[in-house]
Amino acid sequence: MTPARPAPDFTALLSDRARRMTASAIREILKITQQPDVISFAGGLPAPELFPVEAVKLATDAVLTRYGPAALQYSTTEGHPPLREWIGAKARIPAANVQIMTGSQQALDLLGKVLISEGDTVLVEAPTYLGALQSFQPYGPRYVELPTDDGGIDVDALEELLKTTSAKLLYAVPNFQNPTGRTLNAERRRRLVELTGHHGVLVIEDDPYGQLRFTGEAAPSLYELGLEYAGDVNANHVIYCSSFSKTLVPGLRDAWVQAAAPIVSKLVQAKQGADLHTPTLNQMIVTELLEDVLPRQIETVKKAYGERAALMLGHIRQQFPGGVEYTTPEGGMFLWVTLPEGIDSTRMLERALSRNVAYVPGSPFFALGGGENTMRLSYSSATPEQIERGVAALGETIRGALD
Ligand code: PMP
Repeated sequence: MTPARPAPDFTALLSDRARRMTASAIREILKITQQPDVISFAGGLPAPELFPVEAVKLATDAVLTRYGPAALQYSTTEGHPPLREWIGAKARIPAANVQIMTGSQQALDLLGKVLISEGDTVLVEAPTYLGALQSFQPYGPRYVELPTDDGGIDVDALEELLKTTSAKLLYAVPNFQNPTGRTLNAERRRRLVELTGHHGVLVIEDDPYGQLRFTGEAAPSLYELGLEYAGDVNANHVIYCSSFSKTLVPGLRDAWVQAAAPIVSKLVQAKQGADLHTPTLNQMIVTELLEDVLPRQIETVKKAYGERAALMLGHIRQQFPGGVEYTTPEGGMFLWVTLPEGIDSTRMLERALSRNVAYVPGSPFFALGGGENTMRLSYSSATPEQIERGVAALGETIRGALD
């Protein structure tokens, strides 16, 4: 064998963009929490036992029979026309304003690519969805954090910030936010849309969980309010992203964006460079499931998550010591715990793991750091027995950290 040549200096050869990418803190944590005995509230995965496996099998067969080779051929970047039409009809907008995406994660990446230049100010909730920070980060944004409480973004603080920062973009998860489970209330939604519209700030509304409301009243989406504000689908400053990942299955990677024509046409160009189109067969399968399976699946998932959330909240009430605060989600998959000041949830994780329970420390969800005493708990894929034992173990761990 010839002696190995020295490796290129890969680090020096990376792009500035790649240098801005960081390993997801959560991914590292999830590796530890996937030990077999650990009850994990960390993952945040949809419940796999609820997936409509048989229906997907039948739909795949039906689609291949109906379309034959066309189901396996390249297709248009914008997406499978019947799927776009269905989404457009639901939103009461033309199908031309709907762009199919390979997961809403791709929507976030491509929106970052077409909207964020290095140094642009991007407003994000504190805390916010870590995956959005990861998507935007390579494009070099300057983050400004918006304070939040149980009603979502503090719109008074937003109003002040808009006077002093030249923000370009606001990213928000208004329904059952990942990571907090909180929902932006109806009154604040209106003000947020008016304030951003007035200041010429674009809004990305990321809404993968909106259909999964198990209690309370739905508020209008920012996108709908943006339509009202603008009076024209192609003047709406709100860009809406949603997905079939949480309502149907995540593995087909089918999601979409609703936006004004100039944004859609840029996304088409960006998507051509990224993956040409979302897999044809997957889009056809999802389309096949829209009328019957999807509404039933949403009911099934809502019921299960509602029961699991109520169970987790009940045990938290009984098992967590005083001084611990937590959110009460009305839908979605997550709740958010704030421990007494001084407890560091990252340091506490090791002790929780020794009691065979895991969570995600809250700090990585803050664009500008902080939140060391917070953590995210997911109830979506835990059994009642796991919820009971896991919350009890977590209660003991917190009490131990308080001593
Ligand atoms: N946005 C939010 C707020 C999420 O929680 C997730 C999934 N964890 C995504 C986007 C990405 O979802 P997908 O790519 O599966 O549509």
